[in-house]
Amino acid sequence: MNPRKRILVIGSGPAGVHAALAAAAAGHGVSLISETPPGGRAAWQTLLPSKIWLGAGSLPGPVDLNELRARYDHVAGAWQRQLLDELERAGVELRLGTASFLSPHEVQIRPPEGGYPDQLPADAVIIASGAAPFVLPGLEPDGQRIFSPHTIWQLSELPDSLIVIGGSGPATEYVDAFSRLGVRITWLTGPVGVLSAFPPDAGLIIRRVMEARGVHVISGMLPRQVEPSPGGVRVTTADGAVREARMAFVAIGLRPDLDRLNLPAAGLRPGSSGGLATDGFGRTAVSHIYLVGDAASPLSANISIAQGRLAGWHAAGLPVEPLNLEHTVMAIYTNPRVAMVGRMSDRAEPLQRVRLPFNACLRAHLLPPGHQADDDNFLEIAYTAQRRITGALAVCPEAAEILTPLAVAVRAGLTLDALASVYPAHPTFSELSILAARNVK
Ligand SMILES: Cc1cc2nc3c(=O)[nH]c(=O)nc-3n(C[C@H](O)[C@H](O)[C@H](O)COP(=O)(O)OP(=O)(O)OC[C@H]3O[C@@H](n4cnc5c(N)ncnc54)[C@H](O)[C@@H]3O)c2cc1C
Repeated sequence: MNPRKRILVIGSGPAGVHAALAAAAAGHGVSLISETPPGGRAAWQTLLPSKIWLGAGSLPGPVDLNELRARYDHVAGAWQRQLLDELERAGVELRLGTASFLSPHEVQIRPPEGGYPDQLPADAVIIASGAAPFVLPGLEPDGQRIFSPHTIWQLSELPDSLIVIGGSGPATEYVDAFSRLGVRITWLTGPVGVLSAFPPDAGLIIRRVMEARGVHVISGMLPRQVEPSPGGVRVTTADGAVREARMAFVAIGLRPDLDRLNLPAAGLRPGSSGGLATDGFGRTAVSHIYLVGDAASPLSANISIAQGRLAGWHAAGLPVEPLNLEHTVMAIYTNPRVAMVGRMSDRAEPLQRVRLPFNACLRAHLLPPGHQADDDNFLEIAYTAQRRITGALAVCPEAAEILTPLAVAVRAGLTLDALASVYPAHPTFSELSILAARNVK
């Protein structure tokens, strides 16, 4: 066993919690410094509340925002208790407050309600401070007319009309939720359109679904000006067109939240984009200081967890392999869902693909009336000339769950034939990947 180290983790979102648990499991003294209760923005502002809103769109009848808030409080409270329990059992010390560096090996904690700051020595520091919305002048969220992905969940009334700016995953999920709740939506996306991080077929299907619900989608036309109007907001686009709505939802990107850390005292200087470079283990230019999760690159909670665990183990002195993002599933929880894992194309090696309609599995036919999938919903698997599975894309109900066996297949280097020899329970959605594998002659 390595000598017992003092490891500090800053931020208690998915990245920080898992970094702390990993380092503590290796027997080190771990303090987790957090300005929010455990869960981070994921639990208190972004991931969790957005999923509650998405659930509201599936309920019959008008939405009751008080009930929605009560449901959120219930789920967030239960999740917080579970995290507190796990951290306590692992022996992680939780310190509430805002952290900043005094030197490369010393961190100050300012308690939430004033009071005297404390300071802690550190052999290693893992920064997991997350990311904050990118705000353009004039587009600052005000809680009344202009909202960001971090504030939209706090809506106290459902607007009759909404202008959504940006085509990212969070924007797409809220367009889905609000359009199902009957809000009139104008959706302005960048030139690449909807869900630019996924292959184009995915964005095209989601765009068609939203248009069929009456969403007015305009791609390649971001706003030139957003200003208050008597009815809410007035948005002028680059072509001079003026559009009005009760509220605007601006989701144009995130930037690492490193401002309050006093990085120069640690010997670190963010680049022009505001971020810090890291290696495959999350190490910064100062090798005992790590950067993980959205603070390193805003992607998703599961990638943040992967980065956190890896940095926790590495800081603890355990032998680990650098992060491989090919085994992480990226998912968007719209109706239908969108999910992707691994490589669908590769410059170095030509890949082949097999595509199967979602309705090819019996379980799809058992979905209740009104929840049946459209005929264009699909699962596609990419594979090499040697039939080794490299990736998969799904646009269909339960896409994120359907891709888990395929993530395992990519991780294990399985061939289509190995996957085809598995017999999942029948009828299940998981059968879809096996049916697709059997479909390749
Ligand atoms: C609307 C929306 C929906 C999303 N839905 C999903 C989803 O369904 N699935 C998914 O995988 N991802 C989703 N994401 C992305 C996910 O929320 C993030 O990837 C994830 O929260 C990143 O985790 P993290 O631990 O890096 O940071 P965070 O969750 O941002 O937590 C960082 C914490 O550090 C604290 N902090 C910052 N600075 C300091 C400091 N100096 N001292 C002490 N504490 C500090 C912050 O207050 C915060 O509590 C969504 C994002 C958005 C915007």
